[in-house]
Amino acid sequence: MSKTVLVSGGAGYIGSHVSVELINSGYNVVVADNMSNCDMTCFEGVKKITGKDDIPFYQIDCCDYESVVKLFDEQKIDAVIHFAAYKAVGESVAQPIMYYRNNLVSFLNILEAAKNHGGCNVLFSSSATVYGEAQDLPVTEQTPRLPATSPYGNTKQMCEDILRDVVKATAGSEGVVKGIALRYFNPIGAHPSALIGELPRGVPNNLVPFITQTAVGKRECLSIFGNDYPTEDGTCLRDYIDIVDLAKAHVAAVARMLDDRMKEGYEIFNVGTGRPVSVYELVTVFEKVNGLKLNYKFAPRRPGDVVAIWADTRLANEELGWQAERPLEETLASAWAWEKHLAEK
Ligand code: UDP
Repeated sequence: MSKTVLVSGGAGYIGSHVSVELINSGYNVVVADNMSNCDMTCFEGVKKITGKDDIPFYQIDCCDYESVVKLFDEQKIDAVIHFAAYKAVGESVAQPIMYYRNNLVSFLNILEAAKNHGGCNVLFSSSATVYGEAQDLPVTEQTPRLPATSPYGNTKQMCEDILRDVVKATAGSEGVVKGIALRYFNPIGAHPSALIGELPRGVPNNLVPFITQTAVGKRECLSIFGNDYPTEDGTCLRDYIDIVDLAKAHVAAVARMLDDRMKEGYEIFNVGTGRPVSVYELVTVFEKVNGLKLNYKFAPRRPGDVVAIWADTRLANEELGWQAERPLEETLASAWAWEKHLAEK
């Protein structure tokens, strides 16, 4: 019998890519999404790519406990991957109550329902933002977390801690919860089919959607925030992880939980490439691989940006048997193919 994975926030950017990889690996997927930050484009894309048009879809808000319980009553869930959360750093600073309520309550509801339904394996979608401005690079899972600089970042840290505590409290009980937190670096790119990808609402905050929207003419000019950082070319360094590679890390983590291969009830893995790339280098590779010139300018530093962060990926490589494979060139070509696909719609 195939195992069933609930993907909360499954109609979004990361959730849709993860759903595809789960289905391609033989899992049943149930999607829950309140559609607050997406439309049906990616969910429809998942069905097209996988050829599976009967994926159970619950348009529910995970902050509504009754709806979550109903889902768990109706479906036999073996594992949950929890994406359903707000993710804009700036907005979280302006609207902390909204961010704390949404990101914490939805996760608490998932955990409570999981616990009350005989226990579950829970994979939490965390972020390298928990490391803040780390001094020792690359960061390992042991690198201390630094105090969050935004409510968004704080919700990631708090949800990690909640998961750890719930795992500890339920050990040996009837409703055992086991947990993995995956700390993502910078997910970018789109599925090779160009049927699913990132769909930012309004002006993108993230670098790659801003680049593709500039290239397609939706934005006039990319601002590169800061070229006076203490790096080789003066721009910030990040670890850009391909979205399909990232999705495959989730499949590996879910398999580890379901096949009882975890070494602890709660585990953490960095998900990155291990390779730092500068903003300027990324722009240059994008231009080269797609044969175009991008309109960009250097602009002042963006408040809150760390100079450099990239992952030590050895733990994920060794324990999950996973590693990033797609070359940056291919990832950036896929991001551009997706933007063009959107433009043709
Ligand atoms: N960045 C930029 N221009 C933009 C958006 C981002 O220069 O329009 C830079 C940003 O300063 C950072 C890097 O690109 O150094 C990655 O930013 P992003 O917001 O994509 O992810 P973050 O690392 O902040 O989570």
